[in-house]
Amino acid sequence: MQYDYIIVGAGSAGCVLAARLSEDAAVSVCLIEAGGSDDSALIRTPAGAALMLPTRINNWAFETVPQVSLNGRRGYQPRGKVLGGTSSINAMIYARGRASDYDGWSAEYGCAGWSWAEVLPYFRKAEHNERLRDGLHGQGGPLNVGDIRDPNPFGAVFLEAARQAGYTQVDDFNTGTHEGVGRYQVTQKEGERYSVARAYLHPALGRPNLTVLSGALTQRVLFEGKPGQMRAAGVQIERGGATETLRAAREVIVAAGALQSPQLLMCSGIGPRAHLVAQGIKPVAELSGVGANLQDHVGYILNRRCPAGDQRLDLWGISPGGAVRLWREWARYKRERRGMLASNFAEVGGFIKTLPELAEPDIQLHFVIGMVDNHNRRLHLGHGYSMHACVLRPRSRGTVRLGSADMRDAPLIDPAFFSDLGDLETLARGFRAMRAIFDAPAFAPWRGPELHTAGLASDNEFGIREALRDRADSIYHPAGTCSMGNDGGAVVDAQLRVRGVGALRVVDASVMPTLIAGNTNAAVVMIAEKAADLIRAALLQ
Ligand SMILES: Cc1cc2nc3c(=O)[nH]c(=O)nc-3n(C[C@H](O)[C@H](O)[C@H](O)COP(=O)(O)OP(=O)(O)OC[C@H]3O[C@@H](n4cnc5c(N)ncnc54)[C@H](O)[C@@H]3O)c2cc1C
Repeated sequence: MQYDYIIVGAGSAGCVLAARLSEDAAVSVCLIEAGGSDDSALIRTPAGAALMLPTRINNWAFETVPQVSLNGRRGYQPRGKVLGGTSSINAMIYARGRASDYDGWSAEYGCAGWSWAEVLPYFRKAEHNERLRDGLHGQGGPLNVGDIRDPNPFGAVFLEAARQAGYTQVDDFNTGTHEGVGRYQVTQKEGERYSVARAYLHPALGRPNLTVLSGALTQRVLFEGKPGQMRAAGVQIERGGATETLRAAREVIVAAGALQSPQLLMCSGIGPRAHLVAQGIKPVAELSGVGANLQDHVGYILNRRCPAGDQRLDLWGISPGGAVRLWREWARYKRERRGMLASNFAEVGGFIKTLPELAEPDIQLHFVIGMVDNHNRRLHLGHGYSMHACVLRPRSRGTVRLGSADMRDAPLIDPAFFSDLGDLETLARGFRAMRAIFDAPAFAPWRGPELHTAGLASDNEFGIREALRDRADSIYHPAGTCSMGNDGGAVVDAQLRVRGVGALRVVDASVMPTLIAGNTNAAVVMIAEKAADLIRAALLQ
């Protein structure tokens, strides 16, 4: 079987690429996805994320290697394993990061064409914003972006408390220069999740030039040519227990996400030579940057219970009243696509500075309408709420390495959280900022004890650091492992072509040279929109 383009991974990036490249009826496109169909009420219903997050339902549910600075704990790395990839299980927040993120890529990493002014048209092209109609936002794009249909009353409590704690309110978190608290916009439409599969892939499925193979694990990229002039010629996949070879006439595009794109490159012979040889893999091209430069937003969740006897049923929780409420909410959601099941749990939050002298926000906040503990893997009786603070521009750098040469095995993920102690200091300030908001008068009627930190004083610097080491973890934004740039560590150039071989690109969160200061889905969609134009331009040359 031969196609012009083979795309590995039907996640946020892969769905955009498949849809955009197959707009040209003259080219054939094959999209390969290890997971299955996304025709699922759990995916369509925003609250379904609460069940997918802690389980293997549509989720690779990776763990990290033990983290020295997290007291030896293993971190958790959920990743979508389904059409739509992680956009089918994520929290749907639409956030682009800051203008300075992209200007930094362009100025400091040699990523020509990727400054804020140059990527903004792609953010706009992708977007259909239901409310914001200005030069910064798009109308008519595939990705529906809107306000939460039925805001939870505790969002207003958070916003009032944040105002009392001194933060200003903004009504658009996507200006590139935003600072303050407010309501997140979400990738939903009429109360349902609007994953990237739904936005881009579903409308393209009827095209005769687009083949989608789900339940197909790509084992490696195949190369042909002389040493030093190798080009990607296809892929080897495993589907239904059988191994198949697919040929690519023009290009193979790896879009398997920040953890599995470097894994696939290394299993295919592209990566740090010594590591490949140690795994028994014959090197095709030596690229030391593959799997290096792993960055992620490390965060901490502060949980508070409601006062004893005051079970607020509009907060998610486990109680007899909560069960009755859930039943009613389910009936309402089925009828109207409204209510608590239409919530993304993190409806409000903000981008704040923890020191006045900072030029830009260093912490992002997500207020959550329930007690989320250990990625929802640990449940607690009763009702309460949480706030999540994460370090927006982490300085720690980790790795993705192979545990074996077999793509069926999980990669060794080492985010090396707090390996730069500056991140721990930033998160400690974020902890105190959360406390100050929770302690503001607006929360007084609902102020019960904290779940894990009751009695820990906000000026107990040592205690706060220990609390962070005990419970901090990823807020699910790994990036940077096939970094774009022009220095020795760069894996792809500014056209996203893998250096040292032909006909191979990487297009997903792994190409970000630095992690953006915000949630990553919209940026990945932008990257794929721009990549589609770069690939089409190459076709015309
Ligand atoms: C729980 C959670 C909540 C999040 N919330 C938000 C949010 O609210 N807002 C936001 O902006 N971002 C959020 N994110 C992050 C965001 O969704 C991701 O950054 C983004 O979806 C990544 O896109 P990607 O294309 O790089 O990878 P993915 O979307 O992960 O796609 C990779 C795809 O490749 C497939 N694949 C991997 N290996 C192979 C192989 N060998 N063969 C075939 N297929 C393969 C995978 O199954 C997957 O479908 C969240 C992430 C998580 C986990």
